[in-house]
Amino acid sequence: MTSVLPLARPEIAALEPYSHARWEPSLERLHANENPWRAPGDATLGGLNRYPEPQPHELLERLARLYGVDPAQVLAGRGSDEGIDLLVRGFCRAGQDSVLICPPTFGMYKVAARIQGAGVVEVPLDPDRGFALDETRLWSAWHPGIKLVFLCTPNNPTGSSLDPAVIERVLRRLDGRSIVVVDEAYVEFTAVDSLAGRLGEFPNLAVLRTLSKAYALAGARCGAVLAAPEIIGLLRRMIPPYALSVATIEAVLAATTPEGLEEACRRVGLLLDERERLRGRLEALPGVRRVYPSNANFLLVGFHDAGRALDAGIRRHLLVRDVRGQAGLGDCLRITIGTPDQNDRLAAALEAA
Ligand SMILES: *Cc1c(COP(=O)(O)O)cnc(C)c1O
Repeated sequence: MTSVLPLARPEIAALEPYSHARWEPSLERLHANENPWRAPGDATLGGLNRYPEPQPHELLERLARLYGVDPAQVLAGRGSDEGIDLLVRGFCRAGQDSVLICPPTFGMYKVAARIQGAGVVEVPLDPDRGFALDETRLWSAWHPGIKLVFLCTPNNPTGSSLDPAVIERVLRRLDGRSIVVVDEAYVEFTAVDSLAGRLGEFPNLAVLRTLSKAYALAGARCGAVLAAPEIIGLLRRMIPPYALSVATIEAVLAATTPEGLEEACRRVGLLLDERERLRGRLEALPGVRRVYPSNANFLLVGFHDAGRALDAGIRRHLLVRDVRGQAGLGDCLRITIGTPDQNDRLAAALEAA
């Protein structure tokens, strides 16, 4: 196995992390300057007056089981957004290193890089090949200052998936040279296996997973980085000790019981049916130029007049995402699949326009 630690910022690899209050649930807590009484309205099990357990055991074990990995391969944070931020800060030296992204894609990669003072190298996806990765352009753009390569599959906002064989080639070729961050925020909506199952083969792989989409917990803020213990250990030095609130931890544990997972799975099926039903209605509209194939819980739709479609939705109190500002998506809106009633009302609004 090639070590990836030489890719990390040396000062982070050497960082002495904050020493948090000991976590000893069997002892009464007079060591953390907490308030001994609960706040009014506190309905949590553990009590919001208490600091949460840092990287909570039970949560890490639950996520590890959910994703089919070892707890030492899991970092739990405030959404995958925090994972993105930690990866960029852990690997990119300000003013020197860069990340590589493949637009049109999720906006946070670039923002996190800019905040860190890292460069952003863009290798656009190929719209003429279903937004496939352009490997020729990738290899001519890659240089040793690129510490992170972000690949989003299924991709936001296109809904397209990358060819797993291509991702594998990128991982192998960048072994020991760049961390390949595969953002699988929407993988639950596909039939494709998560790359999490292959962490043992790829020391330079980091998979991002989130509870925000398929598990209906966007408001709880919980996501995970799945990677070799070496990478997870580095990120754990950097994450604030009490990143996950007591309320978040309890919400995730409650939603990921066997019954909770069964319900999530049923709803994913319903959203996929609704997505194809909405696709059918939109494809029949003269104002729609194209409904792109999707492997996620949204549709990318090209309109002859996207502004008019956006306004038609808003007039019926339905907001969809304007993605016209993104490279190559000049006439597109991104429509999140809602309840059957919401999808009906959106289709009716667009039909009337
Ligand atoms: C929604 C989304 C996420 C999830 O972000 P959280 O911070 O976990 O809510 C991550 N990546 C992509 C591509 C997304 O669309």
